[in-house]
Amino acid sequence: MIEIKNVSKLYNGSNALALEEMSLHLDPGEFVFLVGPSGAGKSTLIKLMFREQLPTNGKIFFNERDVAAYNQKELLEHRRKIGMVFQDYKLLKQKTVFENVAFALEVLGYSPKEIQKKVPEALEKVGLTEKANSFPRELSGGQQQRVGIARAIVKDPVLILADEPTGNLDRDNALQLMQLFEKINREGTTVVIATHAWDLVDRMQKRVVALSSGKLTRDEQGGYDH
Ligand code: ADP
Ligand code: ADP
Repeated sequence: MIEIKNVSKLYNGSNALALEEMSLHLDPGEFVFLVGPSGAGKSTLIKLMFREQLPTNGKIFFNERDVAAYNQKELLEHRRKIGMVFQDYKLLKQKTVFENVAFALEVLGYSPKEIQKKVPEALEKVGLTEKANSFPRELSGGQQQRVGIARAIVKDPVLILADEPTGNLDRDNALQLMQLFEKINREGTTVVIATHAWDLVDRMQKRVVALSSGKLTRDEQGGYDH
């Protein structure tokens, strides 16, 4: 699904590589943790996969297409296929839970009829049917992140990219959230999660890709042997 080939990234105005000669292959259906210390390049890798950033060197292929060669229509299509989940949720405060999730479809041009069908399905998957008309401030952090996940999955993405999704949550909520990602993955969506939450990574026993100073240092299936 994603082929990252010898990718280096140098941000404008920076003199150190954020990623150096990184290669990584992701198959459809995988569940992958990206781990490593702050500054290792995890967020950069996620931004490159979403094509929010372009590599300075090397290539990224998404379903065999070079993402740097997209035209405007292909770029929109790429982003439609990828659901993003953020540490700080990025919910719209003035909108209800329903409206937050609906907005993700509105910007993609879905009809009101489709929106009325798909939003309740997504809220049901994350267990927030009862909170449809609540505002984000009325929800706990764990619930707000569930809205973030509903917003990501409502457009039926093939890939979910999550950057420190449990960074603001306590351990119990973090574990529940990881189990929700696991359920979404079981239903067929590829999941990539950048995280510092070692205890959860150990517990989940998934593929673990470790970065350090912009380089891939380990890539192991079924957990990580410390
Ligand atoms: P991580 O997500 O693992 O904490 P990042 O991808 O955020 O790592 O950062 C990798 C390196 O790139 C760090 O040295 C960081 O300071 C740098 N970096 C990240 N974003 C930018 C940016 N927009 N401009 C300049 N440097 C950046
Ligand atoms: P994280 O810890 O989640 O990787 P950071 O706190 O490093 O995120 O970065 C927050 C935002 O600032 C990101 O959008 C990142 O790209 C940007 N950023 C990070 N480091 C730098 C930097 N050295 N110069 C400019 N922007 C940066």
